[in-house]
Amino acid sequence: MGDRVQVEVIDRLTGERRVESRPLPLEIGKKPQAENHIQLDPRYTTVSRIHGRLEQRGADLIYVDCSSNGTQVAGKLLKGSEVALQGGEAIQIENYELRLIKTVPLMVKHTGPNLQPRSEFTIEAGQSLLIKTTENGIALMEPDDAETEGVAGKLSFDGAAIILELNDSALVAAVKRNNAPVDDVRVEARPFDVVAIRGDRLELLQPDHQKIVCGNPECHLLNDLPYEENCVWCGYYLAASGSFTRVTLP
Ligand SMILES: [Zn+2]
Repeated sequence: MGDRVQVEVIDRLTGERRVESRPLPLEIGKKPQAENHIQLDPRYTTVSRIHGRLEQRGADLIYVDCSSNGTQVAGKLLKGSEVALQGGEAIQIENYELRLIKTVPLMVKHTGPNLQPRSEFTIEAGQSLLIKTTENGIALMEPDDAETEGVAGKLSFDGAAIILELNDSALVAAVKRNNAPVDDVRVEARPFDVVAIRGDRLELLQPDHQKIVCGNPECHLLNDLPYEENCVWCGYYLAASGSFTRVTLP
């Protein structure tokens, strides 16, 4: 029996979210055969009885697709094939989104317009940061340090998701997650998302990961290393254009 893993299971249709702790190997599907499994709702027609398997192979954690309709892992379709997981990437099975939770701290890298560094914080699961509005953007601070005046919200990390709660509705209109507007005072983000608040950006990183920032000023989102030739978000050519402006090193 391998190590235990923690898997965040989100049903995007119902909004239900749960975290399951299971030993490896495990099966995922609507009628799994193995004792160790993650049960998906049998009513979803394109979910297979055994849709996929998670297993440890040496140091690698492998997702194996065994389904009829395939699984999207980090945006790529797997069908009858497998992929080594780094942790944190979305495993999409119909409406379901599954993520392996890595018990590592979260790094919040705060930059201003034109990516100039502003601050950097590392928080563990269960910890949070306060967001204050300032004359020229936002400031992040530890809850202990902050006076309550000017506090516009809170960013907290539960080990899987990063929850941004804003109490200033004017600010909500100025918030984007991965360059898409949000329409709620509560914003759910994940490691490697970029949350922008007015001209400020918060890169949500993990200490053992390197990411590359897309050089397209309209994009500036995070790509994996070694980088694909094109930004996965905007298609901007990263390699030969010299546009890979910066690598976020731990
Ligand atoms: Zn881009």
